[in-house]
Amino acid sequence: MRNRFSQSPIHFLPPVFLAAVAWLLSFYWPGTTFFTSLFNVLPTLLVLLGGAFCVVYQRQSQLFTLITLYIVHVSLSLQTEHFQATHTLRAETPLVFHLATILAPLLVGVYSVWSIKAHLLQDTISRVALLLVATVVPLALGRVYPDGMLHLVDTIYWPSLHGDWMKLAQLAYITSIVGWGTVVVRYALFPRPQHAAPIVAIACLAWMWSQVFIAPHVLDVVISCAQLMILGSVIHETFYMAFRDELTGIPGRRALNERLSRLGSQYVIAMADVDHFKKFNDTHGHDVGDQVLRLVASKMRKVGGGGSAFRYGGEEFTLLFPGKTLEQCLPHLEEVRRSIETYPLRIRDPQNRPKDDDQGKAHRGASEAKPVFITVSMGVAERGTAARTPEEVIKCADQALYKAKGAGRNNVMPYGQGAQLASRVKRA
Ligand code: GH3
Ligand code: MG
Ligand code: MG
Repeated sequence: MRNRFSQSPIHFLPPVFLAAVAWLLSFYWPGTTFFTSLFNVLPTLLVLLGGAFCVVYQRQSQLFTLITLYIVHVSLSLQTEHFQATHTLRAETPLVFHLATILAPLLVGVYSVWSIKAHLLQDTISRVALLLVATVVPLALGRVYPDGMLHLVDTIYWPSLHGDWMKLAQLAYITSIVGWGTVVVRYALFPRPQHAAPIVAIACLAWMWSQVFIAPHVLDVVISCAQLMILGSVIHETFYMAFRDELTGIPGRRALNERLSRLGSQYVIAMADVDHFKKFNDTHGHDVGDQVLRLVASKMRKVGGGGSAFRYGGEEFTLLFPGKTLEQCLPHLEEVRRSIETYPLRIRDPQNRPKDDDQGKAHRGASEAKPVFITVSMGVAERGTAARTPEEVIKCADQALYKAKGAGRNNVMPYGQGAQLASRVKRA
């Protein structure tokens, strides 16, 4: 499916905010019973609540990322609690710590880019298998061959790459770079909130490792915040999908209804409809029809005058101008209409497709692409004595749209007394 998201700093805003919270709490830890108890239970609470949410909505990547983070929390908590109580390390502590630093970024990276290809059950079994292989197997081997396993994970394999400042095993730096690089590439290719969160989460883990035994609350705080990042990104995306139109990427009907419920006493609504769209679909196919809808939406969203564009449904769009009068909006609507009318849409003829890329490049823009022009008709109405509610204003705009179609299409028709206004604007 085509990617409907584009790279945006908004995707990083919630995870970066949580990273800042984790960082501040790590340095300025209040140390009260309330905060200690809260962050003690948060990782468990989040893996249960978030896990249930992910299971219901089949967010396998996020589910297994949450579980990975939780395993890191549990396994390291056992070691840090013992260390705090006795000031000694358990025999297995070095191995557990190294395994966590090496495997966690790798697993978060792998789970983040692993999209469901197989049947859901098969996919889940494969993910569980990976988790078991990555956790139970090395720990079991560590019990049988403690020295051998420890040597395997903490050896400096490439001395030339090692710096004195490096506190972790060399492998941990490598897997962190690989895990982080994987999620960065994933985001660059598919920029979505769900792909932005692991980038910040892995960076937080990399910072956390060196603090774990010095300040044990850091583990609770960073893991909780990393889990919140993952869960928050799922919620972020869910909202985005609920309010955005899938095909065009502009706000959809639900977003329009919500916006209509909080309009003031002065506003203008325009209803726009693509002309002869059915014929266009029949001639060029549904895919090209979709391409046209995306083009129209991209022109609509650029409307000036403080207007916002929504996809109303099918090939109909709504333009909303809060706090504006009809006279103020008409030039902006006219501009949108004109920008669509003058845009040459190039349609590739599938019958005449070149056989290979080189041939395609040579032909591009020449014989195979012929420009097609699209037009839209618009009906506009403002809130007034005739129409007091948004629904009534939309009805008036619809009636004006009907008139615009009757008047030959490709025009902007104001409702009622605004007709003279329209001809004035068009002449200007
Ligand atoms: P008019 O100028 O009077 O508006 O004529 P029209 O052909 O545009 O009007 P009509 O309402 O009869 O046709 C709307 C068409 O829009 C019918 C439907 O197939 C098409 N359509 C609705 N939604 C989509 C969509 O998401 N993608 C595509 N490709 N076509 C759609
Ligand atoms: Mg229509
Ligand atoms: Mg139409």
